[in-house]
Order: sequence, then C-alpha cells, then structure tokens
Amino acid sequence: SRIPRIVILGAGYGGIVTAIRLQKELNYNEADVTLVNKHDYHYITTHLHMPAAGTDNPENARVNILKLIDEFKIDFVKSTVVQIRPQEKKVILEEGTLSYDYLVIGLGGEPETFGIPGLKEYAMNIRSINSVRFIREHVEYQFAKFKREPSRTDYLTFVVGGAGFTGIEFVGELADRIPDLCKEFDVDPSLVKIYNIEAAPTALPGFDPELVEYAMNVLKNKGVTFKIATAIKECTPDGVVLATGEEIKSATVIWTGGIRGNHMLEEAGFETMRGRIKVDDTLHAPGHDNIYVLGDCSIVMSPEGRPYPPTAQISMQQAEVCAHNLVAQIRGSELKKFEYKPKGTVASLGRGEAIGIVGSKKIKGGTAAVMKKLIDLRYLYIIGGIPLVLKKGRF
Ligand code: FAD
Repeated sequence: SRIPRIVILGAGYGGIVTAIRLQKELNYNEADVTLVNKHDYHYITTHLHMPAAGTDNPENARVNILKLIDEFKIDFVKSTVVQIRPQEKKVILEEGTLSYDYLVIGLGGEPETFGIPGLKEYAMNIRSINSVRFIREHVEYQFAKFKREPSRTDYLTFVVGGAGFTGIEFVGELADRIPDLCKEFDVDPSLVKIYNIEAAPTALPGFDPELVEYAMNVLKNKGVTFKIATAIKECTPDGVVLATGEEIKSATVIWTGGIRGNHMLEEAGFETMRGRIKVDDTLHAPGHDNIYVLGDCSIVMSPEGRPYPPTAQISMQQAEVCAHNLVAQIRGSELKKFEYKPKGTVASLGRGEAIGIVGSKKIKGGTAAVMKKLIDLRYLYIIGGIPLVLKKGRF
C-alpha cells in the first residue's frame, strides 16, 4: 500500500517540534513528511520583544529550518499556505497544491483587535522577524525626525496597547533602550513618554497580584506610565483615543492586546472560537481524525473549563503528543490523551529583572531573570542541541 503522507503547516513552536519528533520516531519509509513554512527560518517568538525594542539583534531570534530538520527524512517547502480544503484532503499554497493523509495545523495566531477602529490600519504588532525589524527601525526614525521638528513631541511618545505578557516584556525592553537612543540622537530623556494601556482591571490579568505590583513598580521606575482599566476606543494616524475621551498623540502605537487563530481555519469551514479550533483530547479537530491542530490555532480547556492561554509552552507539549499520535495512527497502536502540565511562567521586565511562578514558587528580580534565560536556553537545546545553544543563546 501507499506510504501515508503527513503535511505540517507552519514551522513555529508546534510545527517544528512535531517535525523534529517525527524524524526521530518514524522508521524509514513509514511516512512521507512535508513541512511547509512561509520563511526558510523558524523564529523564536518568545525573544521578539528584544529585537523589536532594539536591545538585541533579530538574527538571534531566528534559526534556519534546514539546520533543525534532516532533509533525508523531511521535505521542507518554503511557501505560504493560502487555503485548507479538508474535504479534498488538500492544501493550496501560493505555488502549488499538496495532498495529505494526515494534516498538522500550526500556523500560529493573528492579532485580535476586538473591532477597535483603526488598530488594524495604524498599529504595529510584534509577531515575526519582519514586524520587529520594522518596529526597531521605526522607533529609531522617530528620534531622527524629532531632531528636524522639535515641536513634534508625538514622535517621542510610544503607546503600547495591552499589558499582557507581550506588552509588559516589550515596554521593559523599550524603557531600557530609550537612554541609549537619547544619547545617540542628543534628545532630552524627559521628553520621551512610554504609555502602557490596558482595558482589564489589572496588568497581567490572571497573574499573581503581588508579582504584578512588583512588575509595575520596576517598569514605573524605568519611566513607563500605566493606564490600567482604560480601554483604547480608537487608533488614528495621530495616536490613540481612550474610552475616557483622552487623546494621546503618538507616532508609534504597538498593539499587543490579543491573539486569535489563523483566518484560514474559519474559511476552511472548521468550527472556531476567536479563530481557534477547540481540539478533542487527542488534539484532533472535532470530526476530523486525520487533522491535528496545535498552538495558537487551537483551544485546550483546563479541568476548570477555561481555555488555557496560548503559549509556546503548551504548543511544544502538544507537539510531543501530536507526533506520538501520528506514529500511533500509522502503526495502528493506541493514541495518547493530551494533558497540559504547566511548568510555570516567567516574564522579563528588561535588563536583569523578571517575575514568574515556577512550580508553585514565586520568583522575582535577578533570580527570575536567570530563570528566564534558562528557559530560553532549554528551548534552544530541545530544538537544536548544544550547537544551537552556543550559537543563539544569550547568557
Ligand atoms: P508560531 O510560533 O506563531 O508559528 C507559526 C508559524 O507559521 C510561523 O513560522 C509562521 O511564519 C508560519 N506561518 C504563518 N502563516 C503562514 C502561512 N499562511 N503559510 C505558511 N506559513 C505560515 N509563550 C511562552 O510560553 N513563554 C513566553 O515567554 C512567551 N513570550 C512571548 C513573547 C512575545 C513577544 C510573543 C509575541 C509571544 C510570546 N509567547 C510566549 C507566546 C508564544 O510565542 C506563542 O504562543 C507560540 O509562538 C505559538 O506557537 P505556534 O506553533 O502556534 O505558532
């Protein structure tokens, strides 16, 4: 009989870890595996706040995919997926079509703007190597522009919408970068403003309140102004308008306030919630025992019946089970149920500062910053072993 064909869409946390596991576990000629990704590199999303602020080089946040997979075992196709056709077991790429027996969807998320007017058009997002290179250049350019038009303080006003993990990590880095930019462009630091605006009643909703307070104090001391429990009503070419009626004039608005699933899932006819597919306990799309959905495209419910937040951590754990279940389906053996085991969460607050919960222990300050680095190094080790740790690790 014909060799089963597995197609993996997206080489993010979910997709690349699935591919790496499959190439280890599958025997020769047991399956044809194809990995499709828009770029020829994998990006380490959890580092992107640094190159976005310019505190690190974007090169350190990406890895060539061919360095991570074995081309004798996995075909890599650099292309953009434009459509998924579950009925025909096909995916349409920008160049060509692929047929599959088993499909793994790991296309990641898209910014959720909750219908707030102007955010799509005028705000920037931290989501890829291209987007963070753009943000870094944009921020630097505002300093250069201000020197030509010193009345335009909006060039020196930076608005970050959303005080979740991404927003908090980014303002921490940006606040660290500002003194260097002020020196480089001869700008008075007191003219620079960083606003972090959050609609929820607290920053880092759902996180330990004592650690949230610690984080906010660290960031306030670095010059960040918080506006919590304050919704952005509109984003315009001139800045943002808040629900309170206040207008903040700013040439830089960065939106980190929400993530939804990839738009192609809805278009393919899957039932979605905010663009995501609620997977069954073996990680299949309901009613499709040959389609796995991972990471930001999927929803996994906690035992309390709430969706787990989309993270790299859950994506990687899903990938392990997905690879196991693909091999099991091909061999006709038993599938594993996915159970998320949260190992903890650490958020960086810029240089030498972080907060987190590891196991049931709260950590903060330098200890948490070291833990953050260890988590990052562990990931590099999982996907690329010691060589990648030495090449891309930040110690
Ligand atoms: P992604 O990692 O987003 O990968 C999707 C892949 O699909 C990408 O390679 C993309 O190029 C590709 N792709 C997209 N569309 C197409 C297409 N049409 N055709 C072909 N390819 C396509 N999580 C944590 O657990 N810990 C953290 O500390 C943490 N920090 C974060 C910090 C920042 C700044 C950000 C933005 C996120 C952070 N996250 C963190 C969240 C985490 O990065 C995401 O949950 C995770 O990346 C989701 O993995 P994924 O496999 O679903 O998709």
